[in-house]
Amino acid sequence: MIHLKNVTKIYRQNGVVALDDVTLDVEPGEFVFIVGTSGSGKSTLMKLLMHEETATAGEIFVDGRDVVRLSRKEVPYLRRSLGVIFQDFRLLEDKTVYENVAFAMQVIEAPQKIMQRSVNAVLEIVGLREKFKSFPAQLSGGEQQRVAIARAIVNDPKLVIADEPTGNLDPATSWDIIDIFQRINAAGTTIVMATHDRDIVNRLKKRVVEIEGGKIIRDQIRGRYSGR
Ligand code: ADP
Repeated sequence: MIHLKNVTKIYRQNGVVALDDVTLDVEPGEFVFIVGTSGSGKSTLMKLLMHEETATAGEIFVDGRDVVRLSRKEVPYLRRSLGVIFQDFRLLEDKTVYENVAFAMQVIEAPQKIMQRSVNAVLEIVGLREKFKSFPAQLSGGEQQRVAIARAIVNDPKLVIADEPTGNLDPATSWDIIDIFQRINAAGTTIVMATHDRDIVNRLKKRVVEIEGGKIIRDQIRGRYSGR
């Protein structure tokens, strides 16, 4: 699903080496936590996968697509095959819950009927069917993140990338969100999640990839937050 080989990212503006010769493979259906202290390179890794930043050197393939040599025309196709979730939800404030999710499908020009069915189905998965008319400002943080998850999965992506999805949420709400991720993963979707949440990583016992100073320093199959 993901193949990175000798990937280096140097930010041109300040010369920071954010990723240093990273090699990583993720198989279809895996659930992988990316952990590491702030500034270790986690977000940079996520941004390279979604083509928000470009690598300075190395190979990146996502679902068989060569992300490094992606033409401008191909970028939307990559984005559609990925579901992306951020710490700060990034919802459209002037659109309802339903419209926020439907918008992700309009981008791919889905027929109206299919769109309605899919939006309702994903709102059901995240438990927000009854709030479809609400605006983001009328929702709690946990509910907003559930809308963001619905939006991320509405096009049925094979891979979901989440950058600190529970970073703005209290522990109980975080667990609701993680529950949803586990269900999505159980249905076959590959999940890569950067997180600082020690409890979540320790309880789920999934694969843990630890980054420090732009390098992978640990890759454990049933890992814990801290390897030491
Ligand atoms: P993390 O997500 O683990 O906190 P980041 O990937 O955001 O780490 O950052 C890794 C390093 O790259 C840090 O030193 C950070 O300051 C630097 N960095 C991140 N984004 C940029 C950018 N857009 N321009 C310049 N430097 C950046």
